Amino acid sequence: MKKIFKRKVYLDHNATTSVSRPVRRTMNRVLKYHYGNPSSGYQKGKNAYNILEQARKQVALAIHAHSHEVYFSGCATESNNAVLKTLSNHFYPDKKKIISTPIEHPSVMNTLEYLQTRGIEVEYCPVDCYGFVSAEELEKMIDEDTFLICCIYANNEIGTIQNIKEISAIAKQYNILVMSDCVQAFGKIDVNVKELGVDYATFSAHKLHGPKGVGALYARISSYMEPFIHGGHQEEGMRAGTESVHNIAGFGKACNNVKKLISHSEKIQTIKGLLIDGLRAVKHDMIINSPSEKCLPNTISVTLPGIKSKELMMMLDYYGICVSSGSACSSQINKPSHVLKAIGLTDTAAEETLRISLGKDTTIRDVQYTLKVIDKYLKETWD
Ligand code: PLP
Repeated sequence: MKKIFKRKVYLDHNATTSVSRPVRRTMNRVLKYHYGNPSSGYQKGKNAYNILEQARKQVALAIHAHSHEVYFSGCATESNNAVLKTLSNHFYPDKKKIISTPIEHPSVMNTLEYLQTRGIEVEYCPVDCYGFVSAEELEKMIDEDTFLICCIYANNEIGTIQNIKEISAIAKQYNILVMSDCVQAFGKIDVNVKELGVDYATFSAHKLHGPKGVGALYARISSYMEPFIHGGHQEEGMRAGTESVHNIAGFGKACNNVKKLISHSEKIQTIKGLLIDGLRAVKHDMIINSPSEKCLPNTISVTLPGIKSKELMMMLDYYGICVSSGSACSSQINKPSHVLKAIGLTDTAAEETLRISLGKDTTIRDVQYTLKVIDKYLKETWD
């Protein structure tokens, strides 16, 4: 077999993304010159405060919200915890029920599990084999006790995009709140919180070429909010603690680029098509778990029967290729992915599944190289 020359290929953009140069520059400038505490009354503090408020406007603009509807947090996990826990605290014991889906991110799933130990009832609306929630099924689950519907906008493992607008419209008829984890959608498709009709939405900077360790929470104007970290007056008293000004500034800068990021979708989708064709050519019985429509343009979940994805990943890693066998948050857990199980995969099929997530800089050569390495692995494994 011809020698394969090693390259670096990053195909795990749903796990995280590189920090873009403009974001790095912004953050370095803030770290160097604007280290004042935004709460301090003198000019240096005011400068830092102004940076926060500018970033808030940038995030708000990118999600089509008003800036006073945006709160910064330490990450999307924190934002998800904050919404679920504060709303449960507020409604319990008058209302006890949350309706959600079985394909939420662990930051939602595990928080819901925790809330169940506190008396909250959680019902999961089943999804079909591509991860789609049926709005009619969901409506049937609503009762007097329900205060919240929690539904992920775009799934991190299979890319399925839910009809949040329809779900919000149903929820409104029953006076029920809606929260949506928009982490994976943001930067890949347009996220317009007003059009989606949600009351709460959560975001993370590091999925759109911003820094790690900063997230945001959108709370529709006049929707219920209570402090989720107690202490000082920061973030309107909702999230106390001195703000991570450089991270927040980086998040804001990353949001300036959201339209441009989305404009890469068509190119990414084309490369994704080539990758799927190539995978079919090297392994005829492969199964694509991601839907062909209403799917993130960059995400492919593929099952390769007879091939353990953990082993294939190790081989790909050896050749400089980064892919994932599920969500980065659960890749350390030796349990089949709850998302893949929810869409009907067996434990074995789930263990034979790879998540490949492309990015704006992914090239056809990256895909050709990846296919070559997979082909080599398959031939060596079967021979
Ligand atoms: N929600 C989804 C859908 C995600 O993919 C992630 C990150 O992988 C998160 C939430 C958590 O984001 P963070 O890393 O900012 O806590």
